[in-house]
Amino acid sequence: MLQDLEQLIQLQGVDAEIALLDGAIATIPGQIRVMEQQLVQAKATLDAAKAEVEQLQKTRRQKERDLDEAGRELKRRQGRLFEIKTNQEYTATLKEVEGLKQKISTLEEEILFNLDDTDSAVKIRNQEEEKVRIAQAEFLRNKQQREDELRKLQDRLSLLRKTRERRSGNVETSLLQLYLRLLKSRAGLAVANTTGRSCEGCHVALTPQLYNEIRRNEAIRTCEGCGRILYWKG
Ligand SMILES: [Zn+2]
Repeated sequence: MLQDLEQLIQLQGVDAEIALLDGAIATIPGQIRVMEQQLVQAKATLDAAKAEVEQLQKTRRQKERDLDEAGRELKRRQGRLFEIKTNQEYTATLKEVEGLKQKISTLEEEILFNLDDTDSAVKIRNQEEEKVRIAQAEFLRNKQQREDELRKLQDRLSLLRKTRERRSGNVETSLLQLYLRLLKSRAGLAVANTTGRSCEGCHVALTPQLYNEIRRNEAIRTCEGCGRILYWKG
């Protein structure tokens, strides 16, 4: 077979693998970002669960302070009941005492509800903490795997690029340029097999004369349909 043709076929094999590797390498940062995003999401859910617990605790502390204050107020009012001189004042203070007792009872009830809600919120927060812990470990493991894979692909790629340079250096310049143009415009298939008597790239049938010429693999011939460089693989 013509030396240049042989080189181009080999070169096309190398270029196909390079394109594949380029594609695989390009997807890895995106995969890592998606995994990272899932972790960020899990952390945001945890933050919300923590905030919920804190808010409930804060509300409870306020209610406990209100309860203490109402208790003190109640004692003051009850103490005053014995010092009051007028009926009118007595009735008014008694009304205040009843109001404070009602307030205390409501606050005590609210604090009990708050304690139940806090228990539930703490359980949820603990579950979310566990989820983040697992997600974090999983993320680091998967990221490491992807990065190892990336390094392997990059090593293979740099090896192929050297091979590519060596092989393309052996091909005559104008033919190499034709090959590169075709590789770009014909979706990575610049050199097409014709074993089935038609162009592998565009499936146009070859004339018997062209087919016979190509079968000898002694000259560069291109497809009348798509312009690809043709060869015959016996
Ligand atoms: Zn063709």
